[in-house]
Amino acid sequence: MMTAILTFEELKSQVASGLTDTVLACFVDMQGRLMGKRFHAVNFVETSFSETHCCNYLLATDLEMATPDGYASSSWEAGYGDYIMKPDLETLRPVPWLDGTAMVLCDILDHQTHEPISHSPRAILKKQIERLEKLGFEAKMATELEFFLFEKSFDEIRKDGFRDLQPISGYNEDYHIFQTTKEESVMRPIRNHLFAAGIPIENSKGEAEAGQEELNIRYAPALDCADHHSIAKHAIKEISWQHGRAASFLPKWDKDRVGSSSHVHQSLWKDGKPVFFDQSKDHGMSEIMCQYMSGLIKYAPDYTYFLAPYVNSYKRFSKGTFAPTKTVWSVDNRTAGFRLCGENSNGIRVECRIGGSDLNPYLAQAVMLAAGIKGIEDAMRLAPATTGDVYQDASAKDIPHNLRTATETLRSSKFLREALGDDVVDHYTRAAEWEQEEFDRAVTDWEIQRGFERA
Ligand code: ADP
Repeated sequence: MMTAILTFEELKSQVASGLTDTVLACFVDMQGRLMGKRFHAVNFVETSFSETHCCNYLLATDLEMATPDGYASSSWEAGYGDYIMKPDLETLRPVPWLDGTAMVLCDILDHQTHEPISHSPRAILKKQIERLEKLGFEAKMATELEFFLFEKSFDEIRKDGFRDLQPISGYNEDYHIFQTTKEESVMRPIRNHLFAAGIPIENSKGEAEAGQEELNIRYAPALDCADHHSIAKHAIKEISWQHGRAASFLPKWDKDRVGSSSHVHQSLWKDGKPVFFDQSKDHGMSEIMCQYMSGLIKYAPDYTYFLAPYVNSYKRFSKGTFAPTKTVWSVDNRTAGFRLCGENSNGIRVECRIGGSDLNPYLAQAVMLAAGIKGIEDAMRLAPATTGDVYQDASAKDIPHNLRTATETLRSSKFLREALGDDVVDHYTRAAEWEQEEFDRAVTDWEIQRGFERA
């Protein structure tokens, strides 16, 4: 773990001097959002730093806070009791974009036993990190954040019925400096405030659509990486809101524009040294790297749900958009699901390109670590790299095309049931089913436009 950017002692003295008056105690829900409470800082440093509580429905709700049936962990019958929110004081940090405010991330524990709640995203990732440690390795990860900036704010857009959405720029701004200069009123505070909050920002850049942005954060141990991602995503929305703009992480908001992804870069380390690099092997890929990647590729269909958790997520996977459709790997080729980066160097790593901007980074990293671990445990052999336009390769295995298929693959995944536990797989399978059930009840704009007159 990184040492805390703000120690508890420092927080106490900031509170005593009046510099900090508010502490956000947050945990990450199934959707990857920060949920929690805003504490008066005096209360936090005197008592609540040790624990606080929340309703257990918060890890069994959908995006709209509905309370679906079918969860073993929380229900009306069981009375929706409490969980313990246990602040992880290693994650204390200032929130520079809000006045007088600090933040801490919490682990979710059982109210009676004080054991971690197994389906809590942070607990799911910690379990796989521990499994990896038992094999002698540490994972370092980087998750890229892509999103769209819109001219208007969320509140204005909602009042307008989410119609006539205008992205902040008029043209594809991939790597553009002039267009991104026009967006600096939002992007500069995002970079600088996050950096001051201890999140090692590398850069932001324009992406390959009008209004599309990418934020890159330096790779870090897996848990830190997921914490960074969740806080950064939250900050991007909040800082954009402060400037009267909306930042959307919906993977596909317009069928004719490319979607937003969250690529995940992965490498394993031992005693501070990268173990994916072996100069004597093809591309510099060590045996451990090949085994890890074989697991990643073999089990990609099983865990696709965790990289694409909504109906909309699957609209991103289309040919010729840089979003992958096949579970194969290739060398620095952006049409495959897995791309080898940094070949023949210490920085050698695998980038998974399947995940959408809506992924929960804890869950995404956990399931990919589990797949990599399985590859190592079974000493799996890596198939040769694919070359050329992978979209056209009929022999390459497809990732699930829609949420329904991904849900069934998840439900019947022996590998994930062994790695995560039946309770966790059942919990998320229910979340996936519910998402589909809600969509199946909806009457969409598309149906009205297509059939209103002509049906
Ligand atoms: P690209 O050319 O694909 O944009 P970058 O050099 O910008 O590649 O790196 C992309 C991401 O990969 C960055 O977030 C970076 O921190 C991360 N990264 C670099 N080296 C490693 C590594 N060894 N393991 C995991 N992630 C890494």
